[in-house]
Amino acid sequence: MQQRPERHPEIREAVRALCADFPDAYFRELDEKRAYPEAFVDALTRAGWLAALIPQEYGGSGLGLSEASVIMEEINRCGGNAGACHGQMYNMGTLLRHGSEAQKQRYLPGIAAGELRLQSMAVTEPTTGTDTTQLKTTAVRKGDRYVVNGQKVWISRVQHSDLMILLARTTPAAEVKRKSEGMSIFIVDLEQSIGKGLAVQPIRNMVNHETNELFFDNLEIPAESLIGEEGKGFRYILDGLNAERTLIAAECIGDGCWFVERAAKYAGERIVFGRPIGRNQGVAFPIAEAFIEVEAASLMRYAATDLFDRGEPCGAEANMAKHLAAKASWEAANVCLQTHGGFGFAAEYDVERKFRETRLYLVAPISTNLVFSYVAEHVLGLPRSF
Ligand SMILES: Cc1cc2nc3c(=O)[nH]c(=O)nc-3n(C[C@H](O)[C@H](O)[C@H](O)COP(=O)(O)OP(=O)(O)OC[C@H]3O[C@@H](n4cnc5c(N)ncnc54)[C@H](O)[C@@H]3O)c2cc1C
Repeated sequence: MQQRPERHPEIREAVRALCADFPDAYFRELDEKRAYPEAFVDALTRAGWLAALIPQEYGGSGLGLSEASVIMEEINRCGGNAGACHGQMYNMGTLLRHGSEAQKQRYLPGIAAGELRLQSMAVTEPTTGTDTTQLKTTAVRKGDRYVVNGQKVWISRVQHSDLMILLARTTPAAEVKRKSEGMSIFIVDLEQSIGKGLAVQPIRNMVNHETNELFFDNLEIPAESLIGEEGKGFRYILDGLNAERTLIAAECIGDGCWFVERAAKYAGERIVFGRPIGRNQGVAFPIAEAFIEVEAASLMRYAATDLFDRGEPCGAEANMAKHLAAKASWEAANVCLQTHGGFGFAAEYDVERKFRETRLYLVAPISTNLVFSYVAEHVLGLPRSF
């Protein structure tokens, strides 16, 4: 394939060099065992890549979202899955923006050094789903503690994290003016909590993604776990979503590039009817179209990162980038599978693994309809539907 100019070539090269030690077979084997890529995440952490967004004063590298997005993109483009550790990159943003100086000093240098993992964020609940303001988990202040009761679902990387951001209701919905008020966020020490009021039930799922159901039964957490002001947690969570969505878009772009590169290579090599299958326009054109769509999504990703890095609002661009990238990578996945014919289904080609992995991003962390809903209401000014 022709080399095209890309942003942050030095970062790309360094991440690619690290990923070269973790080839397809490494991720394939873990996928089969549903095991966590411990050695890979350790290597990324030791190299400092997951501390990209932590300011230098707290021991991180103080890079922008544009650079961070390229790190995530390259992991997926090399055949890996950044979903095992992307939380470590963006969850700390909530602490950075809304935590007290004491909280930042307590946690951020440890996170930057890789001694502490803040991989998890617990928002989704089984009975309320996307309707977050209706969540039922409560945190009730009792003296110098909060007592947490309720249930969460799909909470990722809890078994490979030290800390977790938790969103819970601190004032009953009936006592607040707006449904988005009365929720708060906490930083929860998982070792202090699991087995002492917090039970973790793993969910076996379509991909090798460690995710869980959480049950809170009178879990007591210190009052100083509260981040920012009580009652403002929903807004704090929303503040972090633009970075999350943009980084997930970058992962999809990495997947999309992987699918296009693999499809193009295979189409050039596979001989059927005495010629490479890629000589047939019915095979070549869908690959070309998938490439164009991945490239377009990448531009929207940079539109989002550039606004974010200048401190300007980027909700529309972050949502649109996430949508375009998730759609482009899913279309590229289909094309890659089709190009490989039956071999696309063989685990040793990794196409079926990446196909399953990239499908997730049309649903999580925000589903397609909810992106449309955001754009319809907040960008186009259409009447709100919920
Ligand atoms: C592997 C995995 C990992 C995850 N990790 C985390 C995590 O770490 N932390 C966390 O908090 N959550 C996590 N999630 C949850 C994820 O964010 C949600 O699954 C996602 O936001 C969709 O919510 P839901 O599953 O409750 O779907 P629902 O809200 O039940 O929606 C189901 C479908 O209906 C559609 N829908 C709902 N309401 C409307 C409407 N008003 N108009 C149009 N369509 C609508 C949705 O778009 C969706 O397609 C994870 C999920 C998965 C699968």
